[in-house]
Amino acid sequence: MSTPNNFHLLLFGATGDLAQRKLFPALYRAHAHDLLHPQARITAIGRSEPDTAAFLATLQQQAQNHLADDFNLQTWQTFCQRIDYLMLDVSQSQQFDVLATFAQSSDTVIAYLSTAPRFFADICQQLARVGLNTPNVRVVLEKPLGNDLDSSRHINAAVGEYFSENQIYRIDHYLGKEALQNLLPLRFGNPLFESVWNKDFIQSVQITVAETLGVGTRGAFYDRTGALRDMVQNHLLQMLCYTAMERPTSTHSDDIRNEKLKLLESLRIYTPAEVDTHAVRGQYTAAQGMNAYLDEADIAPDSRTETFVAAELYIDNPRWTGVPFYLRTGKRMAQKQAHIVINFKTDPHNPFAAVANRLTISLQPDETLTLRLNTKRTGSGMQSAPADMVLDLAAAANGRRMEAYELLLLEIIAGRLGLFNRRDELEAAWHWVMPLLERWQDPSAPAPQGYPAGSWGAAAAQTLLARNGDTWAENT
Ligand code: NAP
Repeated sequence: MSTPNNFHLLLFGATGDLAQRKLFPALYRAHAHDLLHPQARITAIGRSEPDTAAFLATLQQQAQNHLADDFNLQTWQTFCQRIDYLMLDVSQSQQFDVLATFAQSSDTVIAYLSTAPRFFADICQQLARVGLNTPNVRVVLEKPLGNDLDSSRHINAAVGEYFSENQIYRIDHYLGKEALQNLLPLRFGNPLFESVWNKDFIQSVQITVAETLGVGTRGAFYDRTGALRDMVQNHLLQMLCYTAMERPTSTHSDDIRNEKLKLLESLRIYTPAEVDTHAVRGQYTAAQGMNAYLDEADIAPDSRTETFVAAELYIDNPRWTGVPFYLRTGKRMAQKQAHIVINFKTDPHNPFAAVANRLTISLQPDETLTLRLNTKRTGSGMQSAPADMVLDLAAAANGRRMEAYELLLLEIIAGRLGLFNRRDELEAAWHWVMPLLERWQDPSAPAPQGYPAGSWGAAAAQTLLARNGDTWAENT
């Protein structure tokens, strides 16, 4: 294996939840598996810890919780030798002066902004002021990048004043999931699938990300965000891209991102009336001992924020004319699941076909591919019966499966942009989302439909499919 690139990571928001729960455990695992350059260093930046010793003491407690069996004290201590803590208030511009020393380095400098997006523009401006926007500097932006098309454009323009597009890594951690990335070799590397991956053979596609948790302690954030912005605009549309995009001419980052952009630009944009007929929003109500959304902490008593979204999308290009793509996500749903279901067409007059073929690509709770086939029913006579062929992707890969953030951090260190959203892609995704957002802000729009906590979501989501003769996968 070649030596990994050396780097210096400036981690803004190092005392925050994301850094402590995901980023440091990811860096630790990479360190433990010798995937970091021996000289690579981390400067953890925050306000609430006074010095390195105090920061590391808190970090260790968190790491023990989050790494569980992966935590090894001796390895942890060698990992900590890479880390310094810097107390810096990002709203005080002069405090950035101390970072000027890093501008002397010829190694890669990675500024990871794990802070609220309202700080992004100022942090980038200050980094540039102290000389930290030379070509060896990369900047990483956590989601959410804005709360609508305008604010997203505004943030991207502000960051773009100081960094060129190929220095900017916009995180959508779903792109770090190997089961999602696997769709590209599955589709384009296997003629068996590529030849039937179109409107002639596919009846419909379903993409579901269902969570069992409610809003927990994040009520204030969630109530001004909702499922459309929190999940659909980013994760579900990225899953759609990998499912439906055309074959990139190479595996190069921009070839992949160009195809994702084209796909997003082919999405049919809805009028307000079409939003009412093609999208459903829901809000969970009390059931099975679980609170209603409206009774959760920090939620406005008359909130119309959606905790569930289902939508029927159309891609207006030659491959997909007329094929419905159904997206669905929600909190407090019956099971924790993330999957893509490809329903193939069937011939009702074919005596050998008991069922339509169906390919399920599961990202959660397991990473599997399940292909439903027709087989001969055991015994005398010639009757067909369905049988599932299941591939455990993790077992087939025969190697350690990295969590999304570890894989994404290693891609940033390697300087590969393919798993990060380009500015134009992000704006194209917002472009599709905006009519739904605007319609749902209109007081005359139908209110979110209640659904019992622990169910599969708003009843109207069943009707959405039923009128096309389709059914959600869990019902078949
Ligand atoms: P958080 O727990 O509230 O942490 C915020 C971080 O920002 C803290 O380290 C805080 O430092 C720092 N900060 C705030 N004001 C600062 C200032 N003036 N100067 C310097 N540092 C300052 O938030 P989080 O959950 O980690 O999320 C960070 C970002 O990632 C947010 O944009 C969030 O939406 C996004 N995100 C989070 C998750 C997640 O699972 N948590 C998932 C995806 C995306 P001090 O506390 O030391 O002041």
